[in-house]
This record gives sequence, C-alpha cells and structure tokens, in this order.
Amino acid sequence: MLQLDLRALQHGSVEIAGSLAPNDPRLDGLDVELAEPVKVSGQLAGAGPGRYYWRGEVTTTARGVCRRCLVPVDVAVSVPVGVMFTEDPSADDPSAWVIEPRATVLDLSETVREELILSAPTYVLCRDDCRGLCPGCGEDLNVGSCACRPSTDPRWGPLEALRNAVPDDAR
Ligand SMILES: [Zn+2]
Ligand SMILES: [Zn+2]
Repeated sequence: MLQLDLRALQHGSVEIAGSLAPNDPRLDGLDVELAEPVKVSGQLAGAGPGRYYWRGEVTTTARGVCRRCLVPVDVAVSVPVGVMFTEDPSADDPSAWVIEPRATVLDLSETVREELILSAPTYVLCRDDCRGLCPGCGEDLNVGSCACRPSTDPRWGPLEALRNAVPDDAR
C-alpha cells in the first residue's frame, strides 16, 4: 500500500507496508535493473498542520554488473528514509516534498523512486579483490591466467625494460 489516507492520521500515525514490482512503470528512469520487488515500510505521522513525516525504509535487490569482470552481481539495497511532506510550497526545508493542500491521499511511489535513484549502487564489484578481465584477450583472470601475459615468464623481461625506457608521450 503506497497510497496513504491522510485522514487516518487524525488517529495517530499509520503503518506503511507496500511494494512495487521491479517493472512497475512508477519506477521508470531507474539506472539499475531490479532483481526483486521494492519493499516499502515504516510509519507516516503528522508533524504539525499540513506536514507529514515518513520514517522507514526502502529495500530491494539491484542487479548490477561487476565493473572489472562484467559478471552479473545482485546487490542488496537498503535505504533508510526520513522524508517530510508539506502542503506549504514556501517551506524553508529544501528536502521536503510539497504536496497538494488539503490532499486526502499521499502517494509514496514518486518518493520511493527518487530515494532509489539517489542511492542506487553505481560501482559494483563481484568481490573486493576481483582480478577483472585481461585487457589483451578478455579472459576472466578470476578463472585463471591467460596466454598473453604470464607474469612469471622471463621472456617478457627485455620487452618490459624497453617499454619502460620509452617516454610516455612517445608511445
Ligand atoms: Zn568481478
Ligand atoms: Zn590475456
């Protein structure tokens, strides 16, 4: 349930428990692919006239790609949320969401989308010490070393010395 009845807040805070499917159009524009539904939780409470505060959490699993070896990686995303909604468009809090005056329903989906965009993992590694792909042949160096540059082969020594002797701008 992401549509909250603000009239219910007269009787205290309301519990938020809802979800959005990974392909929900309300999540359009996310840079990451989602592997699981987005779960939305927490509480919405009145915070003075025309103001509401949502404290909770948005969780999901994003599917990224390891920046070094390009394997798909699932990343747990858990965003703590503390968002103020206000009916006052001149509110001095720039992070507050302005809602329609006297609205009776508050739809959280746009806020959920925004929170996910702000916190989506942009740099993903399958593991901290991922060795990545060989720039020469594309072989996954986590699986084994490749033929193009065995690091222990002494035959590369002279060539390496030559490479190092050439100034950078002459390469
Ligand atoms: Zn990797
Ligand atoms: Zn290679």
